[in-house]
Amino acid sequence: MVWEIYLNGVLYLNIESIKLINFRNYRSLDINLNKNMNIFIGKNAQGKTNLLESVYICATGNSFRTNRDKELINFHRNEAYIGANVDLNGIKRFIEIKLDRNRPKRIRINKSELDNLKELNSGLNVVVFSPEDLRIVKDGPFERRNFLDSSISQIRPVYKYNLSKYNKILYQRNNLLKSNKSKSEILSLLEVFDLQLAKTGTEIILARKEFLDKLSNETENIHKKLTFENESLNLDYISNVNTLNYTKAQIEERFFKALKYSMKKDLAIGNTEIGPHRDDVGIKINGLDARTFASQGQQRTVVLSIKLAQMEIIYMEKEVYPILLLDDVFSELDRERRKYLSKSLSKMQTIITSTDLLGLEDLENMDKSIFYIDEGKIMHKE
Ligand code: ATP
Ligand code: MG
Repeated sequence: MVWEIYLNGVLYLNIESIKLINFRNYRSLDINLNKNMNIFIGKNAQGKTNLLESVYICATGNSFRTNRDKELINFHRNEAYIGANVDLNGIKRFIEIKLDRNRPKRIRINKSELDNLKELNSGLNVVVFSPEDLRIVKDGPFERRNFLDSSISQIRPVYKYNLSKYNKILYQRNNLLKSNKSKSEILSLLEVFDLQLAKTGTEIILARKEFLDKLSNETENIHKKLTFENESLNLDYISNVNTLNYTKAQIEERFFKALKYSMKKDLAIGNTEIGPHRDDVGIKINGLDARTFASQGQQRTVVLSIKLAQMEIIYMEKEVYPILLLDDVFSELDRERRKYLSKSLSKMQTIITSTDLLGLEDLENMDKSIFYIDEGKIMHKE
């Protein structure tokens, strides 16, 4: 089905309505969303993040909070449901997710069930920005790889497939390294794994490199504006496979050789040292490592720049802005950054959560709906 069409040259993406049944603390919910801005106000633990999570699952098939689908089902129930009506430039899609304690989740688009969850190409793109995202700057490489993986998966469906293939080969290779097979048997089997690992791993490396090239460009520009030219932000791809200006075949070869070179060490520790599962992204502000030297506010600004850049990349790829999910981050920003963010919000549909309306004054003049959340029940106020 041709999902992307042009109408007056402008593409738009909207979620028209969301329906939840037994999803987390929502027993039954059915709401229509504003095409522009939606603000959900609620005290702690009422269901604000849960709502954003349900939208994210419709878009990507997974939660941004957990890999365990069972956690998404209401404690007292065995099944849960998420449904979203999506409008991409006049073409309607009805995305449905069914969760069951005893079987893998099922996804339907316009009533037809997907055979494979990896096939999900919902046409619904989202960018989420939550306080947890500070981890991208603060925590270890795992968080940054995770960010790369989820961002690239949204624009390149084949990436998800390559990544799970890579992880499977890696798992088997590590098991072999730890096994009590004879050394000659291990060595001959390793050869096969290493060829596969280098081939699939190179796909991952190239996709990450391409994405990071674009992301760092956009991020640097946005960050400059956000900091009134006071800070220059640099993102660098860090890989233990040498990728500099090499062709795909050359990277594959280097990867393969590096695996051979580190074999002794790998055998000793029972783990694979070389490959994109060890990748990282260097984040520097004015030449200093943001992880150790940046203040909380600076780190938050870095994440804001990265998220706004991610939106621009989705726009470049899909010619339509994603839905922006802002989880309780508005009030944490200072006035200037709030203003900058508010200006960007007119380009796309947004869903914003907050514990109160204080701090959201900059959004006063925007076309919006305000909802109040109380123990998994939602009231539409204005
Ligand atoms: P905060 O302002 O603190 O971020 P929130 O409104 O974002 O709060 P949520 O994270 O959406 O809160 O969670 C709301 C409630 O949902 C929590 O009290 C949590 O215990 C509950 N909850 C989470 N998972 C389930 C589940 N599977 N079944 C029932 N309730 C759940
Ligand atoms: Mg929350």
